Amino acid sequence: MNGDTRGIGMTSQRARDRLVVQIAKMGVKSERVLNLIRTTPRHLFVDEALASRAYENTALPIGFSQTISQPYIVAAMTEALLKSGELNNVLEIGAGCGYQSMILSKIAKTVYSVERIAMLADKLRIRLHELHVNNVRVLHGDGALGWEKHAPFDAILVAAAGISIPQALTDQLAIGGRLVIPVGRPGNQELRLITKTPGILEEEILGEVSFVPLVKGVG
Ligand code: SAH
Repeated sequence: MNGDTRGIGMTSQRARDRLVVQIAKMGVKSERVLNLIRTTPRHLFVDEALASRAYENTALPIGFSQTISQPYIVAAMTEALLKSGELNNVLEIGAGCGYQSMILSKIAKTVYSVERIAMLADKLRIRLHELHVNNVRVLHGDGALGWEKHAPFDAILVAAAGISIPQALTDQLAIGGRLVIPVGRPGNQELRLITKTPGILEEEILGEVSFVPLVKGVG
């Protein structure tokens, strides 16, 4: 079905507004981020059968045992990265269906997105192209290695949880840059925000979260 016509209508707009109100109540303050949640067509990133649930504040399946992240988490992670000011290049690990990639494409000049499952990486390229998102580059690879060729990055967002922070990612972060990443095992994960300063990596815990695991190698 034509992506421009699916799901547009009052119900969808009301559902989007309701979602934004919920996310704001949960603590996201940035108007810019709330507006991105309001205007990004999440229903086009899930199967048609799930499109009617696209503006619920929950993760939904996208196949291959993976999920599209909960909108609140997408908003909170994006807000955390925006605090470092204007972003030139952003690295995204675990692009999945590309919803977060599209949001990042609106706050950065170029987004470098890595996804380990080939079929998802292929679908994501096509979807972003159809949505006229032209500043996201997609790599099928192991995101734990980062994307060295385009480093250093002003910001790095990781959407899958490892038991520790891959060193390649902190190495590829620019001085003053921010990395937001879930760390821990299933059922016991926390979202961390790392800020790189000349001497040290400052670390802040943003809260408890539940992400799919960061898996080694490619699929
Ligand atoms: N960002 C997505 C969420 C995707 S779920 C959204 O917008 O909703 C997390 C994704 O991370 C999955 O697609 C999974 O395949 C991917 N992933 C897991 N381990 C990875 C790794 N080592 N490198 C790259 N991607 C990985």
